[in-house]
Amino acid sequence: MASYEQELRAALEAVRGAARVCRAVQERLITRDTLEKRDKSPVTVADFASQAIVCRHLEQAFANDAVVGEEHSAELRTPENAALLASVVGAVSSEIGGVDAQRVLGWIDRGGADAKAERYWALDPIDGTKGFLRREQYAVALALIERGEVVAGALGCPNLDDGAGGTGVLLAAVRGQGAHVFPLWRSAGEGRPVHVSAIASPAGARFCESVEAEHSDQSESAKIAARLGITAPPLRMDSQCKYAAVARGDASIYLRLPTRADYREKIWDHAAGMLVVEEAGGRVSDVDGKPLDFRHGRTLAANRGVVATAGSIHARVIEAIREVRQT
Ligand code: AMP
Ligand code: MG
Repeated sequence: MASYEQELRAALEAVRGAARVCRAVQERLITRDTLEKRDKSPVTVADFASQAIVCRHLEQAFANDAVVGEEHSAELRTPENAALLASVVGAVSSEIGGVDAQRVLGWIDRGGADAKAERYWALDPIDGTKGFLRREQYAVALALIERGEVVAGALGCPNLDDGAGGTGVLLAAVRGQGAHVFPLWRSAGEGRPVHVSAIASPAGARFCESVEAEHSDQSESAKIAARLGITAPPLRMDSQCKYAAVARGDASIYLRLPTRADYREKIWDHAAGMLVVEEAGGRVSDVDGKPLDFRHGRTLAANRGVVATAGSIHARVIEAIREVRQT
């Protein structure tokens, strides 16, 4: 079996670099003024700069690999967006030294592949854009997909409590090798293994869900929680930090319940998080209990919603969802 050692190392460094850029943009560009005006430009700058940094790392390590990123550079190339482009170039330069706009646009374009190659990386340069703007939780999520299987993933969570008085958590996993936590703000060789909580019955579970009610049905989750005998309030947070919470035992259930029949989950919103939870000993499926199927391009076209749990309670949670949805 392939060890994916080089892939893991490249993914960790790529996510670390992107997280530093995101943190710098968050500190510098989000002001009371942008918050009052509901100005989204800080997250746009960080999104593009994060994608550029990750694609640059992957280009250096695996020049032939395709990258399926969430962002496209077309918007950045228009004359009206010259100031935005300058900000993106400034953010990238702060991480790697002076570069010009053409190189930055070239890296962002490297992330424009479609999800058809036998092997490709799926990238969400900033997952949880609303959390980023509120200075709450967001994530940089990178996963390697081979023949429709997620084989490696790294999940950077810059604002997640590190358990040592600071923030910044980096979780990563290789299929079959367990999930590990690494420092986010400095390079370090060995990770520490992480495990889901050893919960036996769902009643004692803490569940997490989106802050945004459009992304997951919060009234349905309340009914499911009641059915499972859960009394703790939901842990609401943006982004794939919810997968991180389940993987390291802060919560035992993550519910993502469809709010619209026509929405299809995006691969970059789940690939890294799913692998980290599974390798930490948990289980991930859609709301019907079916495995997430990464063989359908950019979306999880064959799935509806997502349920991640500590594993032992998975079947009972899926059953409770079915019971609630039937009534
Ligand atoms: P979260 O931070 O967990 O609420 O999820 C953020 C992600 O939700 C974004 O990256 C979007 O890709 C995704 N998203 C957008 N619209 C929807 C929707 N209607 N249902 C589920 N997810 C959505
Ligand atoms: Mg996302």
